[in-house]
Amino acid sequence: MPKLTRRHFVLSGMTAIVSTRMRSARAPSRSPNRPLAIASANRVTLPDGTVYYNGIRATARAFELMRAGSDPLDAVIAGVTIVEDDPNDMSVGYGGLPNEEGEVELDASVMHGPTGRCGAVAALRYIKNPSQVARLVMEETDHILLVGEGALRFALSFGFQKQDLLTERARQVWLQWRRERSERDHWMQNKLPGALRSALPTLDWAHMTGTINCLAVTEAGDLAGVTTTSGLAFKVPGRVGDSPIIGCGLYVDNDVGAAGSTGWGEDNIRVVGAHTVVENMRRGMSPLQACLDALRRIVKLYGGRPAHQVNFYAINKNGEYAGAAIFKGAQFAVTDARGSRVEDSAYLLERPPQ
Ligand code: ASP
Repeated sequence: MPKLTRRHFVLSGMTAIVSTRMRSARAPSRSPNRPLAIASANRVTLPDGTVYYNGIRATARAFELMRAGSDPLDAVIAGVTIVEDDPNDMSVGYGGLPNEEGEVELDASVMHGPTGRCGAVAALRYIKNPSQVARLVMEETDHILLVGEGALRFALSFGFQKQDLLTERARQVWLQWRRERSERDHWMQNKLPGALRSALPTLDWAHMTGTINCLAVTEAGDLAGVTTTSGLAFKVPGRVGDSPIIGCGLYVDNDVGAAGSTGWGEDNIRVVGAHTVVENMRRGMSPLQACLDALRRIVKLYGGRPAHQVNFYAINKNGEYAGAAIFKGAQFAVTDARGSRVEDSAYLLERPPQ
């Protein structure tokens, strides 16, 4: 297990939207910080209380593969496959929390900087590695996004195995949610239903979301990214979030950098977040400034009182990187020549509205 260290980006006395005084996540260095992999980092709590961060295993694997000469897309997909396969991670792949009818529906996208190609799948059922299916859409078709039944049939035609993705643990959480949902629950709510809180005491509203985004740059400066998720817990069947939408949950431009997102997908889609972040970097912003600018656009949509958490992650071609979120408390995983660690994301607001 890689050693975890922390760096803190918490800003002194900040209770409102920060303006220009954010410090850069990484001071520009003369020699590029490559290879580098970063990822979102969800805390996963095992039934016995053990806690780990999902993203750190992905970045460590992606880094190791790039050090051995791997293509950056192969590296990030290998990294997130560990997380998709993990039954204890209730936000991604096998073991993910299901939709309101108890079915796990997965979304994923991939983008390869050197070729500018991309692929995605949405509302994919029964296949635990949607990121690998997204890559096949990119490699084997002239299309970019396959959904639902068509995506499933496409995956099966390439030999993917159909399996039930609902683990007993996720099913228990869903049953509890269903038992306790009330007429006052609605799809717009941004607070954790009481049902979920009692189902899994360690869960908070942020855990209704959960995704892994992993971005990488090789020693030669080639970029790639992947985003994979089971989407919002208890979503309406057929609901598709930002993760499989190129430009929202993921965007890569080999001349500039790469960006991805986790959190409330609908809010991200409204600002086409990942593309916005990459375009910000193209215009000269650091990864951190680029992420904060995109987050401010979301905050503005809510008149300064956003309802949900949204996270952005970004790297540029030199291996500068950042993670930033609307609300305090988010983290992200990094692996570079200094090792693997979890860092605190920068943020705009201390806490969600009560
Ligand atoms: N962004 C994902 C979605 O909206 C969820 C998440 O990141 O947790 O589907």
